Parts: sequence; structure tokens; C-alpha cells
Amino acid sequence: MYLWKTDVVIIGGGSVGCAIARELSRFQLKSVLVEKNEDVCALTGKANSAIIHTGFDAPVGSLEAKLVVAARRMYDQLAQELDFPYQVVGALLVAVTKEQWQLLPELQRKALRNGVFDVHLLGRERVLAIEPELSDQVYGGLAIPRESIVSPYEMAIAMAENAIANGVKFFLGTRVTGIETTGGTVQAVSTTRGKIKTSWVINAAGMYCDEVAQMVGECDFTITPRRGEFFIMDKEAPYKLRHIILPVPTRISKGILISPTVSGNLLVGPTAEDIEDKSDTRVTVAGLAQVMTGAQKLLPALSSAHTITQYAGLRPVRHPEGYTVEASRQNRGYIGISGVRSTGVTSAPAVAAYVRDLAEEVGLKLIPRSNFNPLRRQLKPFASMTYQERAAAIKVDPHWGHVVCRCEHVTEAEVLRAIHSPLGARSLDAIKRRTRAGMGRCQGGFCGVRIPFILARELGIPVEAVTKKGPGSEILVGPIRGEMMR
Ligand SMILES: Cc1cc2nc3c(=O)[nH]c(=O)nc-3n(C[C@H](O)[C@H](O)[C@H](O)COP(=O)(O)OP(=O)(O)OC[C@H]3O[C@@H](n4cnc5c(N)ncnc54)[C@H](O)[C@@H]3O)c2cc1C
Repeated sequence: MYLWKTDVVIIGGGSVGCAIARELSRFQLKSVLVEKNEDVCALTGKANSAIIHTGFDAPVGSLEAKLVVAARRMYDQLAQELDFPYQVVGALLVAVTKEQWQLLPELQRKALRNGVFDVHLLGRERVLAIEPELSDQVYGGLAIPRESIVSPYEMAIAMAENAIANGVKFFLGTRVTGIETTGGTVQAVSTTRGKIKTSWVINAAGMYCDEVAQMVGECDFTITPRRGEFFIMDKEAPYKLRHIILPVPTRISKGILISPTVSGNLLVGPTAEDIEDKSDTRVTVAGLAQVMTGAQKLLPALSSAHTITQYAGLRPVRHPEGYTVEASRQNRGYIGISGVRSTGVTSAPAVAAYVRDLAEEVGLKLIPRSNFNPLRRQLKPFASMTYQERAAAIKVDPHWGHVVCRCEHVTEAEVLRAIHSPLGARSLDAIKRRTRAGMGRCQGGFCGVRIPFILARELGIPVEAVTKKGPGSEILVGPIRGEMMR
């Protein structure tokens, strides 16, 4: 007895898995995405630098360079079709020592070799004229005009919602435990909820792609985590940057950068620390100190006194290194993706197109659907409405008049939309990623005690069962005095 029967199973609902789900939804196919967390994009996809790279500094001639450069060209259309926050702000790569300044021409040549032709050298005066708050130690820089910023989780959610609208089935909170093959052909995928019959499996499990690859006995690589820690600064911090400020990169990392976010904060980080535990996303005193010291070399006014939160993400480092997207020779129907380490938010749509072509090459029949709808629309946030728009919205639905997050001005109407959307939010963090409730200055101090009751009411569950991010992270355990507040 099968839980489901389908043509393709995508394992993993990160940026890459969601992009593949959307790409395959263009065709007359049955596709299923299986994600072990209670929401998509709940791992690396939510904890990164949120930059859409041009590929100017990618390893020349690599699959990574090819896919990042190709993906960057897709974003203007993608953001328009799917209505997620994305801004072309441009980057300045800044040299603060003479040695770094001497490296810039080589970086510019690398950009040219990667097909990124608009990177140009700037002298000290020009850099400081563009970003006057940068250190006066600046020697000069490189301008990379098409580096952009995005909300990575809203992008993944948008791709997932669009995939669902076009017929893809998502199983969230469901872990893949095995892959069945017979006579060298994929037959089924075992999950914690039952077996799914399928002829094709796409392994987009990110940090865990080695463990999934072992399920078909095909793992000649390992994945280890490289942690990156970040600060998010208050929107009211007394310094502003309009561009992404990049340091001169090192051999193992792009270095500690400072970037505006699509929501008006500054993001500062990351570190690059090789660790052992694939789930250790703690921030550390030493890591955060390293971030602050590194970033202050670029922006001296930066201060940890202005931070509102910190987080860490884990890059999945492949050994041996490098993007790898391969169809199995031993197990027909299995496609593995690994080594998508530091640029996977950017490359996701190009990885998806690459997987599509590869799958077709090895036998997946792809017939376009005439009724594929590429469009997905998001509600206009209350925070960006005019007073007239707010008044009109409240007249139609009074939930627009009930502000549940005071810092980010999120209303109950937006929380309800998040819960009842095609990929309905089931936890506090899932609401946060869809609405920004809890991402402001008080970090959920106000909305964190209101939204659980809305979730409980709408989902028909006791409030004690509402979680922050899935089972094991319940928020309320019981009343401390008398009745639970309603
Ligand atoms: C510090 C840092 C900074 C970064 N900055 C940038 C940046 O600015 N720009 C950029 O483009 N990229 C950046 N990246 C890289 C980017 O975040 C990753 O490449 C991208 O998120 C990887 O997406 P993914 O879908 O491959 O993996 P993931 O997001 O890890 O998704 C894999 C999914 O598979 C699921 N899964 C695993 N095993 C199973 C199983 N057995 N059953 C079901 N589900 C399973 C997981 O739960 C997970 O949701 C950065 C990364 C880090 C850590």
C-alpha cells in the first residue's frame, strides 16, 4: 500500500528543491517534494547572506560559475513572475590595505573570464563618494553593479507556492528514510509517513545529500558543515549603506561583508568555521567578535550595540569540493546534487534547469503543460500600504486593522493569509518567514504571545501544541496562574 504514486520525488525543500519543484511543474508530470522540516527553506536557505551573486568571483570554468552566471540572468523575470523581494543594489569590493588593492586587477580579470563584463575598478575618492561612511583606510575598490539582494526564504516559498498551484504535491514534516531500487531502477521512496511509488528521485538534501546518496549505495563524497555567523542591525542604526560591501575574498570564504537587506536592516557576516555537527547553528562569542572586528575594518562606526539579533548558517562543504549534478549510471532514475555550498540561493533556478535537461537526457519524458501558470502574487504588506490603501483594506476585512507585530506593522489579515495559503504556515517561524512578524526590534516580544493563539484557533489545535519550528519546540507549556490568556 503506497502513501502516494508519482513520477518524480524531490528530496529536500531548500532553495534548490523548491526551484526544481517549480521547474518540473511546467511539464505533464506528477511530482512530489518531501521535506523533513515543517516548512520549506527552514535550514541553510534561511540563514545566509541573502545575496544574488553575479558569479564574478566563482572558480573559473567550474559548474558553479556556469550556473551562478546563468541564474543571475534569470532573476529579473523570476522576481516579477513570483513577486518576492529582490533589489539590484550593486556591490563594492573594498581594499583596505595596499596588498588587497594590488589583488583587484586579478579579480577583475577573473570576472571577465566568468563572463561578468561590467565589473570595474574604482579609486579611493570614488569609493568614498559612493559610500562616505566607509573607512578612510580605503585604497580603492571594484564595482560589481549587478550583485543583488533577495529575501531567500520568501523566494523559496514563492517557488513552492507556484509549484503547488501547478500541481506539485508537498509532504512537509516527512523524512525520507530509504530509496528502493530493483534491477538498477528506482522503484520507491520510503518516508516516515509511508512509501511513495516513483521512477525518479532527485536528491536535493543539501547538508544531508551524502546520507541520501548512501540510500542508493552511491556516495563517493562526504559533506561537512562550515558555520557562518551573522549580526542583523537595527533599522535605526546611525549608519546607512546603499551597496553590498564586500571585503577582498580569501581562499576559503568570501569574507565578512556588510549588506543592506530587502527589509531595510544591515546584515553583517559571516565567519567560516569548519565544525563537525551538521545541526550546530549556535552563534558564539568568538565568532561574533570576529564578525564585528572584521566588518569594522570596512565600516568603523559599526557597533554591536545596534544589533537586534544574530544567527548562524551552515555551508555544506563537499569533499572533494565542487558543484556536482549527476544522473546515476547504476540506478536509473536517480539524480544527485551535491556541493552547492556558498551560492545555492543564487544558483537554484539554474540548477533546476540543469536538472531538467539532465533528466530529459537520461530518459524522463518532458511534455510542456499548456496550462502552466508562471505567476504567483503576494499580498501587499500593510507596512508598505498608503493610509488610503490601509483604510480600504480594513473596510473590506477588519483583520487588517488588528496589528499583531508592532515593530514590522504586521496585521492579523497577513497572518491569516500565511496560515491559509497553499503552503500554509504551521509554526511561529513559518509565520515569521511569510510576514516578518517577529523579525523587528523586539524580536517577537509582542507578537510572540499573540500569534500562537491565532495559529491554535485557525488550525483547531490546543495552544500548547503550537510550535516555534515543528515538534519539540512547543512554546507554551501551561498556565502559570489560573486560565491561559486568550
Ligand atoms: C553563511 C552562509 C552564507 C551564504 N550566503 C549566500 C549568499 O549570499 N548567496 C547565495 O546564493 N548563497 C549563499 N549561501 C549558500 C546557500 O545558503 C546554500 O547554497 C543554499 O541554501 C543551499 O540550498 P539547498 O536547497 O541545496 O540546501 P538546504 O537549504 O539545506 O535544503 C535541503 C533540504 O533537504 C532537507 N532534507 C535533508 N535530508 C532529508 C531527508 N532525509 N528527507 C527529507 N528532507 C531532507 C532538509 O531539511 C533541507 O530543508 C550561504 C550559505 C551560508 C551557510
